[in-house]
Amino acid sequence: MGRGERFDVAVVGCGPVGGVLATLLGRRGHRVVVVERHPAPYPLPRAVHFDHEVGRILQACGLGGELGAISEPGSEYEWRNGSGQVLLRFGGRAVGPSGWPDSNMFWQPALERLIEAAAAARPTVGVRRGVRLVGLDDRADGVALTVETAAGRAEPIEARYVVGCDGANSTVRELMGVSVTDLGFFYDWLIVDVALHEARVFDPVNLQICEPARPTTMVSGGPGRRRWEFMRLPGESVDELDDPARAWALLEPWDVTPANATLERHAVYRFQARWADRWRTGNVLLAGDAAHQMPPFAGQGLCSGVRDAANLAWKLDLVLAGCSPPALLDAYERERTDNVRAVIDFSMALGKVICITDPDEAAERDALMAGGADAQAPPPLPGVTGGVIRAGDPLAGLLFVQGRVARDGTPALLDDVVGAGWRLVTMDPEVGDSISDELLAWFADRGGVVVTVVAEVDVDGTYDAWFTSHGVVAVVQRPDFHLYGSAVGAAGVDDLLAHLRTALDHPSVPTGGTP
Ligand SMILES: Cc1cc2nc3c(=O)[nH]c(=O)nc-3n(C[C@H](O)[C@H](O)[C@H](O)COP(=O)(O)OP(=O)(O)OC[C@H]3O[C@@H](n4cnc5c(N)ncnc54)[C@H](O)[C@@H]3O)c2cc1C
Repeated sequence: MGRGERFDVAVVGCGPVGGVLATLLGRRGHRVVVVERHPAPYPLPRAVHFDHEVGRILQACGLGGELGAISEPGSEYEWRNGSGQVLLRFGGRAVGPSGWPDSNMFWQPALERLIEAAAAARPTVGVRRGVRLVGLDDRADGVALTVETAAGRAEPIEARYVVGCDGANSTVRELMGVSVTDLGFFYDWLIVDVALHEARVFDPVNLQICEPARPTTMVSGGPGRRRWEFMRLPGESVDELDDPARAWALLEPWDVTPANATLERHAVYRFQARWADRWRTGNVLLAGDAAHQMPPFAGQGLCSGVRDAANLAWKLDLVLAGCSPPALLDAYERERTDNVRAVIDFSMALGKVICITDPDEAAERDALMAGGADAQAPPPLPGVTGGVIRAGDPLAGLLFVQGRVARDGTPALLDDVVGAGWRLVTMDPEVGDSISDELLAWFADRGGVVVTVVAEVDVDGTYDAWFTSHGVVAVVQRPDFHLYGSAVGAAGVDDLLAHLRTALDHPSVPTGGTP
């Protein structure tokens, strides 16, 4: 090609998804450029919630120690009808399976700043702000990108792969010529973010008020902040609703006034359920909102995008390192779509509960849901159902646990001790010795490590409980924390690794599989 500076990967968009992808690739030593049209980070939040799995992915970005300062656990999420009766309650578990709280409430600009700093701190990653992608030319050996500076000057960049993490109105998606499937489920909501002048306790911390006269969401916006969301009613115009005086009037019933709070922003958003029909054409891929959008009632839009990044990062890593052929990248869309479709369905199902403005319909809903007030853990999302998982293994594709282990006598999350990447995890010290030298060397070449968690260091018994209940001796955990597969006895571990070698060295992934 030879037109401009050449990178392994050009990430378009420095939102949370682009930032996480760049960080994960940079941690594996790849040369990455992130191009972002805005000269400065976006100062307003949209997402306020991430789940335990995303907590672990952010930990893999090196941010585990910093998340506590910008987030607080969303211990309870209650759904009440207009008269205060509880219809649904999520909560009750302090820590989710990934070692992080099930629900973490945060302020998006603070998280994005942390992610961007983590990306920019990698010596092989450059973040270029104030440049907009305007053109793509996908060729056999890579992609020629054209970006435009604020002054209107066009500049060439070259990359082996391009990933469009450029949000709902993705330019990359448009340049790929990919169509979008839209379920036609949309509602307008006024989003109001407030900083309270004095600390106040909200119990429950997160609340949906299924009041047909005005469906309302009231949740934490991270430490010191609150988020209210008010649905636009039939007959009400967006302009009428998107007004600071209107926002204050809607906040008043909660004793939130200009005397005790600062209105950080108000904006009307249209929540939609849509996805791109293809996530890869040639050397160009999509991730995050560019690939899918969903209503925010399950707090999963950003989470899904971060999962995309974690899934795609290890595949790009193996392909760029020459360990796997580019066909491995076809597994990305195959692996992510079932999960994304389930999350979109779940978000829409929750939306159908809350977005009811007809009083009779609301009364029917209330009668149907009465008694559903016992706290329940959020439903587990489907794991990986096809792609790089061991066929016929009932545990393959499941999200694996992360527990605490004793390090120098102090409990630490396992990934902080052994790092993230390909991990063969066992509690049996003999398993490591039983693996053939040849397979062990192949595994190590891909960053694979054998991790033996002996009972004495399994501080909370997480691994003992998991291995005992599943009746296996070892598992292979992928870098995105899903299981490739398991072995019932030490004798099966070589076979497990041999299958993994075939899956990564000679991937054959059925195409298609959009949600
Ligand atoms: C009101 C609301 C509440 C939400 N709540 C939650 C929640 O609680 N939990 C959750 O998980 N999700 C939630 N979401 C969804 C979440 O905010 C998004 O899914 C997430 O921000 C998407 O991240 P992204 O990185 O894919 O895209 P974005 O954050 O949109 O980032 C895309 C970036 O690409 C840049 N860009 C675009 N075009 C170009 C171009 N041509 N050249 C260069 N750069 C470009 C943009 O400037 C932007 O910085 C919510 C959304 C809304 C609207």
